[in-house]
Amino acid sequence: MDDCLFCKISRGEIPCRKVYEDDEVLAFHDIRPAARVHFLIIPKQHIESMLSVEPAHAALMGKLMTLVPQLAREQGLGEGFKVNINTGRAGGQEVFHLHLHVFGGGPAAA
Ligand code: 5GP
Ligand code: ZN
Repeated sequence: MDDCLFCKISRGEIPCRKVYEDDEVLAFHDIRPAARVHFLIIPKQHIESMLSVEPAHAALMGKLMTLVPQLAREQGLGEGFKVNINTGRAGGQEVFHLHLHVFGGGPAAA
């Protein structure tokens, strides 16, 4: 998707602070952290939102979910964290490329 912000980030056209990358998935720190640790996990494939998820995405979705505890521990959130998937305009989604927010560790630094 030419105009999608997160597709541009996953292609390396817009820089990010990377947390994790493989051939299917990218994780990076949120530019406006809502907590001391706040990163996003995205599939590199352009999927608009949870509303577009289908059975064919099951393996990829499973991979995203299993990366959550691994990356959260690596980022110092071994005691616990929140996961949020804003879905659709009515669900507070602003960037229409599926992403999981993972955040915790107390308030963001001022
Ligand atoms: P949404 O409301 O769609 O679930 O969340 C989009 C998130 O993307 C927001 O938390 C916002 O701070 C983050 N974001 C928007 N633009 C950028 C960017 O250019 N780089 C990074 N790293 N995060 C971004
Ligand atoms: Zn995209």
